[in-house]
Amino acid sequence: MSRVYNFSAGPAVLPEEVLKEAQEELMDYRGCGMSVMEMSHRSSVFQQIIDEAEADLRELMNIPSEYRVLFLQGGASLQFAMIPMNLMKNRVADYIVTGQWAKKAYQEAQKFGKANKIASSEDKTFSYIPDCSDLPVSPDADYVYICENNTIYGTKFKELPNTKGKLLVSDVSSCFLSEPVDVSKYGIIYGGVQKNIGPAGMVIAIIREDLITEDVLPGTPTMMAYKTHADAGSMYNTPNCWSIYMCGKVFRWLKRMGGLSVMKEKNEEKAKILYDYLDSSRLFRGTVVPKDRSLMNVPFVTGDKELDAKFVKEAKAAGLENLKGHRTVGGMRASIYNAMPKEGVEALVAFMKKFEEENL
Ligand SMILES: *Cc1c(COP(=O)(O)O)cnc(C)c1O
Repeated sequence: MSRVYNFSAGPAVLPEEVLKEAQEELMDYRGCGMSVMEMSHRSSVFQQIIDEAEADLRELMNIPSEYRVLFLQGGASLQFAMIPMNLMKNRVADYIVTGQWAKKAYQEAQKFGKANKIASSEDKTFSYIPDCSDLPVSPDADYVYICENNTIYGTKFKELPNTKGKLLVSDVSSCFLSEPVDVSKYGIIYGGVQKNIGPAGMVIAIIREDLITEDVLPGTPTMMAYKTHADAGSMYNTPNCWSIYMCGKVFRWLKRMGGLSVMKEKNEEKAKILYDYLDSSRLFRGTVVPKDRSLMNVPFVTGDKELDAKFVKEAKAAGLENLKGHRTVGGMRASIYNAMPKEGVEALVAFMKKFEEENL
């Protein structure tokens, strides 16, 4: 067996310990004679898996009791529609567009009402986070929407926007569980798990209880109403059992690691290794305004497309995979999520130094 350092933006690297545990339990989950993939979601064994997963997530994020945790399908992208369907009572919502995912959410919301783009960083290829201290928040907005960590462009909100009392809805797909958050500042905080937590195909939505009501937009399908899933304990229909199981293992791994403040320190340490090198390199440079740099996704370029391609190819041959940047930014992107060990980042920087010497 040989594993590479996988810098994929998602689906992405998982902790090896977790993969090994799953391997051990694959044929026979704790004496029940079948794998988690084969068991009824209505069984007491599975009920325990989902209950423990939720309890561990609540403990990790310190989720207040008036918030519900929902395990949903359809990816983060389905939330782009579910959010307006459930929250857009006045049919008005404000969007801060800091990247492609926020833009998609903004465009989807336009199907349901008046979506206002109250700030954007598109003028400079989303390479910064706009000043959100005094935005023209609409008086009748049902919520203000952000994408907190921009996976493609590598920016992160270091401070939440001033929503002037309006509900904040945040897509945290690519920074989920990377650092402590104050859940009480949000109406909804949600993310696809395939970036920083588990296998693809599931979203976790943490929703303030009073927002989960029958008062949804007319015509909202049963499956699109949060209440359907909240009332059924995320098992209105068959959930993504495998992903819930694997995410539960990652939650326990995070607890063993010391929780989210320890993860934040580790993530800062890893990101610093890479950013410090980028700031000193004569060949590579980061593409993001330093104060808005993400700890999770680090885009960089040489400024020469052919050299970028050569770098990606040679890095792959050296066991450093999935470093090609998103097509809209070009260059490279290293995603250094929770499960990427410090050694992986060190190996990347060592390789970049060597490449710099050989190609300058
Ligand atoms: C990947 C990603 C999405 C889309 O996730 P899907 O689960 O593929 O729909 C949405 N938002 C952010 C921030 C992402 O990184």
